[in-house]
Amino acid sequence: MLDWKTVELPPFKRHRRLRRSSGIRSMVRETDLAPRNLIYPLFIEAGLQGRSPILSMPGQDRIGVDQLNAEADDLARLGIPAVLLFGLPVSKDDLGSGAYARDGIVQQSIRRLKEANPELVVVGDVCLCEYTSHGHCGPLLPDGSVDNDATLPLLAETAVTLAEAGCDIIAPSDMMDGRVTAIRLALDSAGFAQTPILSYAAKFSSAFYGPFRDAADSAPQFGDRRGYQMDPANARMALDEVATDIAEGADMVMVKPALPYLDVLRQVRDRVDVPVAAYNVSGEYSMLMAAIQNGWLDEHRAIDETLTSIRRAGADMIITYHAKQWAARQ
Ligand SMILES: [Zn+2]
Repeated sequence: MLDWKTVELPPFKRHRRLRRSSGIRSMVRETDLAPRNLIYPLFIEAGLQGRSPILSMPGQDRIGVDQLNAEADDLARLGIPAVLLFGLPVSKDDLGSGAYARDGIVQQSIRRLKEANPELVVVGDVCLCEYTSHGHCGPLLPDGSVDNDATLPLLAETAVTLAEAGCDIIAPSDMMDGRVTAIRLALDSAGFAQTPILSYAAKFSSAFYGPFRDAADSAPQFGDRRGYQMDPANARMALDEVATDIAEGADMVMVKPALPYLDVLRQVRDRVDVPVAAYNVSGEYSMLMAAIQNGWLDEHRAIDETLTSIRRAGADMIITYHAKQWAARQ
């Protein structure tokens, strides 16, 4: 047993010096989080008046077009610069024609939002799965798989109709090969050379999308999306997807989901120089909210730590359902 009264320890570094006060902690903080980093997703349901709670996502609602002015006001007051729009159409068909209808639910919503607040950055999700009767992200081949090349013109047409409605950023989420090339070409030839593309470049086939499919009514009627979304085990392949989308003209890239893929996010951030977004998806939101509602986690600290971890891993922008909740107490 050492006699600690007489022991002389060798010199050691005192890390705690920089944690002594909140002033010092704040001076040496490496990662910041501000409302300007956040993008808030909206689910807009055609024919709905008012709001309809999404049971699997406590605190989130499907909203009617009549709620968009109030949403735009809320976001402006909170300093949240951007929204990501998803639509629930009145009817669906095999080709997802509601996605590229000139008077589609998202197209209408964009017009309404831009009227309410021209400064709000409107990001339009481009995919067909909310609009197809079978719930897959494009038209099907006889074997039930999604026809990649037949999907491209429909995605491109969707992007053009969103841009025509005033959409600021086009965000393809379908994971078809060649979609960025097709969308860029279509936007340019329709006079939207200045409209940027944020591609869901590394989108993994994830269990954490479960509550979203409830919210957007977009669950596949058969099978799953593993034929086009990425295998959760593959990080190098994610880098290849990102490189391809940038080569095809993506101005920004996204990693989705965020929390189970923070390592991928970090590798993407280290590899590319374009802005990087991360999607803190519905299942990540719901599991945190469930624990918070049960009193198992402290709401403020758990959400701060979660969003900070996504920033620290390299996200410039975070798409998150926590956006308003978090920004409201800044
Ligand atoms: Zn889809």
